Amino acid sequence: MIQKNLAKVEENIAQACKRCGRDSKEVTLIAVSKTKPVTMIQEAMECGKREFGENKAQEMKEKYEVLPKDIKWHFIGHLQTNKVKYVVGRACLIHSVDSLHLAEAVEAESAKKDVISDILIEVNVAEEESKFGLKMEETLNLVENIAKMPHIRIKGLMTIAPFVENQEENRVVFRKLRELSVDIAKKNIDNVSMSVLSMGMTNDYEVAIEEGATYVRVGTGIFGERSLH
Ligand SMILES: *Cc1c(COP(=O)(O)O)cnc(C)c1O
Repeated sequence: MIQKNLAKVEENIAQACKRCGRDSKEVTLIAVSKTKPVTMIQEAMECGKREFGENKAQEMKEKYEVLPKDIKWHFIGHLQTNKVKYVVGRACLIHSVDSLHLAEAVEAESAKKDVISDILIEVNVAEEESKFGLKMEETLNLVENIAKMPHIRIKGLMTIAPFVENQEENRVVFRKLRELSVDIAKKNIDNVSMSVLSMGMTNDYEVAIEEGATYVRVGTGIFGERSLH
């Protein structure tokens, strides 16, 4: 099932790239394996996947310990400062930094482990109350403050779009995130890149790609429905 699903998602990505004249190499599919067993990750690995997404720090750490080290783990969930120690040094990219307080904890843990942590800033473009992330207008200020931290590199922005019936409804959300990243890139802030746009999930990754996503995070479309957790 996973093999078939992966092939389908990859085909849809290729088609979306074609529609908007992008090279499909610009878009990386993160297989979101949260709540799913190690055996399913191994199955996806047999199909060549090496980029996986997790949203719980301890779960990511446990899977990290037992699975091959050539996996790239993306931390995509809300991160509490007391869990930063599980993620720094293990995740290739933390997608969900949304406060100075959290960035300070990532900086401190990265300094302690003598690593540089790549991060994205999570923006709540649609301003949904149920979601984490900064408001658009707060983003530049946080970027400027984090840019001064020697053990953190900002790579771009991330958003979680609302749940919608028709993915076209989220086009404006993705477009706004890209416009914000272009605006921030123009400031040429030292130590800050805006090359990554992490946006698009099972229900809306095609539109996200048309609007410039470089990472799409797909769980259900690859591993099937999750039971509540
Ligand atoms: C769970 C999750 C996803 C994947 O969601 P699907 O709808 O299953 O594709 C993507 N991004 C984040 C941040 C998530 O928590």
